[in-house]
Amino acid sequence: MQYIDTHAHFDLCVDEGAGTETDLIAGLETSGITRAVHVSIDVGGFYRAHEFAVRHRDRGIVFTLGIHPSSPAGKKELDAIERYTEKVMNSEEASLLFGIGETGLDYYRMRRPKDEQQNSFEHQIHLALKHHLPVIVHSRDASDDSLAILKRYAPVRGIMHCFSEGADYAKKFLDLGMYLSFAGNVSYKAAITLQESASHVPADRLLLETDAPFLTPVPLRGKKNKPEYVIHTYRFVAALRGISENELCDQILTNFHALMHDSNQSRFRRQP
Ligand SMILES: [Zn+2]
Repeated sequence: MQYIDTHAHFDLCVDEGAGTETDLIAGLETSGITRAVHVSIDVGGFYRAHEFAVRHRDRGIVFTLGIHPSSPAGKKELDAIERYTEKVMNSEEASLLFGIGETGLDYYRMRRPKDEQQNSFEHQIHLALKHHLPVIVHSRDASDDSLAILKRYAPVRGIMHCFSEGADYAKKFLDLGMYLSFAGNVSYKAAITLQESASHVPADRLLLETDAPFLTPVPLRGKKNKPEYVIHTYRFVAALRGISENELCDQILTNFHALMHDSNQSRFRRQP
């Protein structure tokens, strides 16, 4: 079986003491994880993310460029993400850049003013569309505004990361073209509505992730999360959907490749 972690912060895992970089990479291999997406959250992390993916490209690591809704996103930062994206897309390492994000809206923490978050989100959607890349969306206590913004650009090819809403919102995001990615919190006992969403998402729009070092899945809840723990979320969701883990692995591999393939196709079509 081949597992994928579609959303992890390897740098934060190291900083939070979940393991060294070498441990984390070795853990992928022993657990059968053949692909992982390292997600950046601020301009300061771009270079580190890029270099990390270059170092471990033969281990299936790809990376993203994004400014999280809790990170500063003034003109300086928005110019920086645009420049860095151009630079990577025009380099030999373009295929290591998986997408733009995580971006989005976080009205729960509200670390940045609403208008700054919204402006940054739109800017990053534009950037993703311009380069034919998927957009990775973080939305917390902000589903209606996230939907409204995405709707202006629909259909949008992207991922609702750590999807945490019920079936009604699931349908609305799916209608806009988004994939839904579930993290370890889907396995928590109280997460009944979320489990309902995860059991009903169409098979071809489902993804799984750790969001490590956060949201450690059952039965390891309480420990610092790391990408290799994604296998517990696979196990849980396979049981929830009444399918074998093998079938789920195949499906998610197909979905992930479809997302990557679509961006490569569009990039290719852009060539003269
Ligand atoms: Zn994240």
